[in-house]
Amino acid sequence: MDYVEYGIQKAKDSPSHDVHFTETVMREYEEEKKILEIMQQSVEQRRFRVWYQPVSHLESGFASAEALLRLNDYEGNPVPPSRFIPIAEESGMIDDLSWIVLEEVCELLEKHPESQVKSISINMSMQQFADAGLEKRILDCLKRHHLTPDRLKIEVTERVLLHDMAYMKNVMYNMNHAGIGFYLDDFGTGYSNLASVLEFPFECVKLDKSLLIGFPGNPDSEMLVKTLIELFHSMGEKVVVEGIEDAAQAEFLKALGADRIQGYYYSKPLPEEAFEKYYL
Ligand code: C2E
Ligand code: CA
Ligand code: CA
Ligand code: CA
Repeated sequence: MDYVEYGIQKAKDSPSHDVHFTETVMREYEEEKKILEIMQQSVEQRRFRVWYQPVSHLESGFASAEALLRLNDYEGNPVPPSRFIPIAEESGMIDDLSWIVLEEVCELLEKHPESQVKSISINMSMQQFADAGLEKRILDCLKRHHLTPDRLKIEVTERVLLHDMAYMKNVMYNMNHAGIGFYLDDFGTGYSNLASVLEFPFECVKLDKSLLIGFPGNPDSEMLVKTLIELFHSMGEKVVVEGIEDAAQAEFLKALGADRIQGYYYSKPLPEEAFEKYYL
């Protein structure tokens, strides 16, 4: 979809008598345009950064990590991914960004063949899967950096799966066959459909932090998380719990049998240099 047309369309649809509505839409449109500009420049000038959030593997003591995009505006202030990722997806820029992340991750892993960090996961949007060359492109990148496919994991949300389930199943099984592992991201948000999840080749499920309301201490939240962990284990999947912010949560999840925890308690996302220094 043409980006400019999209903005105009929005403004045109608004009731003409409602000046405030139109103003709000125009302001939003201007801001989106600005973010898009920042993104375009940042790609050209290679100013996007990839940060890494370590994930603690409770049993083995090993760690893995999730790669997260970081963008600063012209003044050097961070633009949150929740702001720029949707614009990148809408405008098609997410493609460029995904390749930047993949390349950065592979480059970093190649430098540390013996690291305790066995794998790093990247987030992928719907657009990447529409690309028929996706599998080849990822495998080529891994090969170029002398990496086995098990060092890279791909996180997808249910939203991506539900877009076209038959197609996604096919793509994911093919890639999985080539050795690339998939994680189901943000489980517990949106339309969590267990039946659909069963049909995809996930090796790991990430429970969203929104399931941890008043946790521990809230019996409902505790029972829900406990049941989900048992369920996914019985399906042969590892369970990561996201958004762990304190020791009480970490301890309780360990007792419930969670395999891994990710959150500020273990580590915030780190710039590459810090992650490399302390974890790789
Ligand atoms: P996500 O995939 O669920 O990533 C985890 C988010 O939770 C990150 O937000 C991380 O900073 C945050 N987080 C981690 N631990 C805690 C905690 O203990 N408490 C709280 N409150 N938050 C925690 P971030 O980096 O702002 O990214 C937001 C979202 O943007 C990501 O959510 C992901 O959906 C998207 N995103 C980030 N990088 C990429 C990318 O390279 N490609 C795509 N397609 N999406 C990305
Ligand atoms: Ca690099
Ligand atoms: Ca993720
Ligand atoms: Ca998540």
